Amino acid sequence: MDSCDKCGNIPIIIKKKQSGQKLCRECFIQSTREKVLRDIRKYKLIEKGDKVLMALSGGKDSVMTLEILYSLYKTKTFRFRH
Ligand SMILES: [Zn+2]
Repeated sequence: MDSCDKCGNIPIIIKKKQSGQKLCRECFIQSTREKVLRDIRKYKLIEKGDKVLMALSGGKDSVMTLEILYSLYKTKTFRFRH
């Protein structure tokens, strides 16, 4: 059985098509969170004073976006008003 390339845990939930990297749930979420944070900073998607409106359809993409924004709120990476 395949194990996670980052931590060695089983089971893996995704094998990335381009890199071939296999990740467990926790490493996939962490990896995605880090990429989102890098892209927010690189492309200045959220800057000081910005207001961000989050729409939730209930699909996997919007649920993942909500989870990531919530984790950025919990870790105080960005300041949020709600
Ligand atoms: Zn892992």
